[in-house]
Amino acid sequence: MNDAILAVDAGSSSVKFGVFALPAARDGELARLVHGQIEGIGVAPRFSAVGAGGETLAQDDVADVATQFDHQAALSHTLDWLVQHLSGQRLAAVGHRIVHGGSLFAEPVRVTPRVLSQLEALVSLAPLHQPHGIAGIRALAERLPDVPQIACFDTAFHRTQPAVAQLFGLPRELSGDGIRRYGFHGLSYQYIASQLPKYLGTDSDGRVIVAHLGNGASLCALRGRRSVASTMGFTALDGLLMGTRCGGLDPGVVLYLIEEKHMTTVQVAELLYERSGLLGVSGLSSDLRVLLASDKPAAAQAIDLFVYRIVRELGSLAAALGGLDALVFTAGIGENSAHIRQRVCEQLGWLGLKLDRAANEVHGPRIGTADSPVSAWVIATNEEQVIARGALDELLRARASPPSGH
Ligand code: ADP
Repeated sequence: MNDAILAVDAGSSSVKFGVFALPAARDGELARLVHGQIEGIGVAPRFSAVGAGGETLAQDDVADVATQFDHQAALSHTLDWLVQHLSGQRLAAVGHRIVHGGSLFAEPVRVTPRVLSQLEALVSLAPLHQPHGIAGIRALAERLPDVPQIACFDTAFHRTQPAVAQLFGLPRELSGDGIRRYGFHGLSYQYIASQLPKYLGTDSDGRVIVAHLGNGASLCALRGRRSVASTMGFTALDGLLMGTRCGGLDPGVVLYLIEEKHMTTVQVAELLYERSGLLGVSGLSSDLRVLLASDKPAAAQAIDLFVYRIVRELGSLAAALGGLDALVFTAGIGENSAHIRQRVCEQLGWLGLKLDRAANEVHGPRIGTADSPVSAWVIATNEEQVIARGALDELLRARASPPSGH
């Protein structure tokens, strides 16, 4: 039997997973044996799995009665499939993506009843995301009671930001209560930071901005491959325009909606998280591909705003860094949309960035010209690798210093 680590990312309507073989390679990377997902939970759940060589291993509709197929059922289905298909592997640990670690967690942590209640106390800070991660932990702990469950946090990577980058201009006692900027997408940024030396060489420790552009979208400023600033703040609503989230908004708008439009807090939350962003502005779709294919003026304007917000926030992070050495695009849109990358890069000429259009059309990896003072890249993210690696590190830490029993 060989040991392996299961990485789980339970989102609002999907559960993604990856199984990684131990031990790690010399560069610290873990070989991925299989990965896949169940999407369409609650609507029309569909399971797919892909092998190490990119071959399709499964692609099935998984439930007759879609409404009864929840996250717990999705994880059970995944585990049943893994037990059948990975007969030579023993799970040494399960790593979970947890969106919010608050001020408490700067590293992966083994889940105990105490940790679980600490994670639950953070639900109010990420009401749409945190419950899914916690449900994933509960479901797998029940099925695999002897396997360590390890929580890995999207906020943890940003704990290196200077104090001033984490502060809001609110009365001091509120910061003490935890009302401050946390930043998200940290597992993705950590992966990109780990890959930078391969692409950028010595420049990797310079002033780098990573653009994680997916359904959720944010930017992170790195120096010395550590986070120094990011566009997401207290919640995953701030910063860029996203698929269905508004991004940065004058807080006065929220007051106006409550006072003048008589909206409840539940209605405002639903508006800002679910009905805004590309979907709200276009009135058509949250999927960039649909908007790019549309000839409706509102779709074009939604894309214009998406690009405009990225360019403005890039300027802000470049100012925080005191200049820019490299720009990296990642996630669904960042990795796949040459159109968006071109429009962003062409507006960054003032920073010295020169786009190589042909390289951009084939997705790089290097998309800036050889003489561009600011280099530009496309690097695929791999959050599951970071989760698996974080789980392994926590296992090794625990073995090196077993609990004292006090
Ligand atoms: P999530 O935040 O859900 O993990 P992803 O990183 O998978 O999101 O990104 C999803 C987004 O990527 C969608 O808006 C989708 O339209 C966009 N996307 C994927 N492929 C392409 C493509 N070829 N061109 C433009 N956009 C794309």
